[in-house]
Amino acid sequence: MLDYTSPEPEPTGPATTAEAVLKGIGDIDSCVQGLYVHVPFCVHRCHYCDFFTIAGRDQDREAYVGRLLNEAAAVLPRLPVGIETVFIGGGTPTHLPVDSLAALLEGLNTLLTAAGHSVKEWTVEANPDTVSRSVADALAGGGVNRVSLGAQSFEVAALAALERRHNPASVPIAMDHLRAVGIDDLSLDLIFGVPGQADPLPAWRRDLAAAVSLQPSHLSCYGLTYEAGTPLRRRLETGRVERVDQSTEADQYQETIAHLGNAGFEQYEISNWAQPGRRCLHNEAYWLNRNWWPLGPSASGHVNGMRWRNVPRLGPWLAGSGLPAIDTVEQLDADGQAGELLMLGLRRLDGVPQGMVELACQTPERGTGRLEAIERHIHEGLLVWTDGSLRLTARGLLLADGVIGDLL
Ligand code: SF4
Repeated sequence: MLDYTSPEPEPTGPATTAEAVLKGIGDIDSCVQGLYVHVPFCVHRCHYCDFFTIAGRDQDREAYVGRLLNEAAAVLPRLPVGIETVFIGGGTPTHLPVDSLAALLEGLNTLLTAAGHSVKEWTVEANPDTVSRSVADALAGGGVNRVSLGAQSFEVAALAALERRHNPASVPIAMDHLRAVGIDDLSLDLIFGVPGQADPLPAWRRDLAAAVSLQPSHLSCYGLTYEAGTPLRRRLETGRVERVDQSTEADQYQETIAHLGNAGFEQYEISNWAQPGRRCLHNEAYWLNRNWWPLGPSASGHVNGMRWRNVPRLGPWLAGSGLPAIDTVEQLDADGQAGELLMLGLRRLDGVPQGMVELACQTPERGTGRLEAIERHIHEGLLVWTDGSLRLTARGLLLADGVIGDLL
């Protein structure tokens, strides 16, 4: 498998600036709860990944940190006090040199504290083989209290099929380093539906058992997706990869629900499970359609129905100063916001409270259509009212994309 350096994608829309977004928002009448920081650097681009990631530009990592703190300094003092969660994702944040990682965390901490924000949950994504003891020390020293590790599988062949380069043994080693410095809120990402496995269901059971044996506080389990534009998608389209059949994937998903439920994990979202009290607050804010601010190239934000994305190109982003150029911005109208609220809320197992569902079904544009779709899916056993909230049923979870898509 060859490394390839990601091309800088062309801009996809009219350029404007985050400054204009900030002014356009006007008075932010509800707080901005989260901060998302995108670190685009990776050692290698895995062939299924469609995030904005870059391999082969390690020489820009130090400049990245300086520019990111410059961007943060331009916005954090202007946001209303209330940022409770920080999520540093990517990319591979722990692929930053340890000094740069420490400087990034220290700089963000200083800016957040000076602006009066009090962060409760500070998550960093990491690849298992990038977490040395010195990286763990830098994370703990920088106030990080939650780490999400991209384990993906404990089967060597599955990791190879995903183009993941770490060894399964690096996962417990990384967890030991993190626990040794006091970071015990540890999440593992796993992927099912990996092509080329002779025994996909038993292999997935082994993955689940291996993950549970490491006693993480949280698990995210996703079916492999073949995103447009990825090398994996091209391999699928040219017959070099064969997709796992839908019934096997459904069996793997149901196995996940049963296995993790028996192990004491609460499923709180379609793809997420947590030990009691260990839900990811930052991601919950996404699904509750709350407000978060993005920092870094390609990072997306949402404030009061306005969604935008910073320019997904490292060169222009690095060359800028203050708030960056953005490439897409969308102000949702009331109907669009209602649809989003339903779409995101139904991902949560807690569902959507009746009052919110009623509001979403009263918009003149699509309210009636939504009401009819909800009634049809209740009749089909895919949605149910429980304790005053509309939720996906066990069967609805298997068909969630279609059900939710009907309500948009
Ligand atoms: S390490 Fe993660 S972010 Fe980087 S290319 Fe692979 S899947 Fe994407």
